[in-house]
Amino acid sequence: MLTPTNAVFDLTCELIRRVSVTPEDAGCQEIIGQRLANLGFSLRQLNAHGVHNLWASRGHGSPHLLFAGHTDVVPSGPEAEWQSPPFEPTVHEGHLIGRGAADMKSSLAAMLVAVEEHLTQHPDQPGTLSFLITSDEEGEAIHGTAHAIRELNKDGIKPDYCIVGEPSSSDRLGDVVRCGRRGSLNARLTIHGVQGHVAYPAAARNPIHQAMPVLAQLADTVWDHGNQFYPPTSLQISNIKSGTGASNVIPGSLSADFNLRFNTEQTCAGLQGQIEQMFEEAGLQYDLQWTLSGAPFLTQPGNLSDAVDNAIKSETGITTEMSTSGGTSDGRFIAPWESHPEGPVEVIEIGPINATIHKINESVLISDLIPLANIYRKIIGNLFTLN
Ligand SMILES: [Zn+2]
Repeated sequence: MLTPTNAVFDLTCELIRRVSVTPEDAGCQEIIGQRLANLGFSLRQLNAHGVHNLWASRGHGSPHLLFAGHTDVVPSGPEAEWQSPPFEPTVHEGHLIGRGAADMKSSLAAMLVAVEEHLTQHPDQPGTLSFLITSDEEGEAIHGTAHAIRELNKDGIKPDYCIVGEPSSSDRLGDVVRCGRRGSLNARLTIHGVQGHVAYPAAARNPIHQAMPVLAQLADTVWDHGNQFYPPTSLQISNIKSGTGASNVIPGSLSADFNLRFNTEQTCAGLQGQIEQMFEEAGLQYDLQWTLSGAPFLTQPGNLSDAVDNAIKSETGITTEMSTSGGTSDGRFIAPWESHPEGPVEVIEIGPINATIHKINESVLISDLIPLANIYRKIIGNLFTLN
């Protein structure tokens, strides 16, 4: 059963009905784009490799506030386990249920309604408001926000501030916002030994024996002590493979995977250099393949954090916690903005309660929808009067 209650609710339902499993957009951006065009936004499609990316902007100059989000959702999982069809918005005990209800179609709806209300009250707003919406956040994220930023950067477009609508709240709307994320660096190590008979070790070189001290060193190293905003950098070994299965054979090679979650005390290149030096000093014959899935970013206390903090306090009475926990998001691409010479973009993620995201019966509290739009609207008001 559906009871239409307000503009944010109605738009969230409209978006949930679109089956936009990554990298599909299923027409969501057209709905949002049309309403932004009605407000005087100019639209630009930055699609690539089947991924839909919409850029919309209105006004010029500073301050420039960007709203960022994604229309794609993760697959529903077994539909039979849902209490109602996943792409049919349904109301149950004060919750709106449907895939994407919390991650993050309600945030997109709330952002749009917030901007509509703000511009109705302040049609001559100086500065720039913009939206960057992708359909590839939950997937590989190669042709999504990262691609769009490269294109925008070519034209010298760069926002000062960005609100990402990821569901950041924990127990109550606005109790937690994200002001940064740790970096994530993956490595695959291969140690090359010499295969042989266990009875003739002098004629072989055992990669397991060679790996043990250097893996222990990796596990024991204190990389840093963290800082005011982040816990210490940690390294976890996730896989080790070696051996032929026979008990009388010294294997010829060993492979091991490890991941570093690192803070702003470190750089990717610095960590790589330190680890490669350990392997060199151990005299190994090895290969190392690195994959950086995201550099860390941190939005220091400033205009944006003040605007967010005040908006949440005014709307909910809560003093929000600025957190750097959680997995990766498109904030990792927006903050560095292609290493723009003018420096990073201030990025904060604020959205609804994240208890059900990616789960069966994903839902959002209906009573949080208007307050979320009000928080976004107050952030705009706070930022544009601060400047
Ligand atoms: Zn999300």
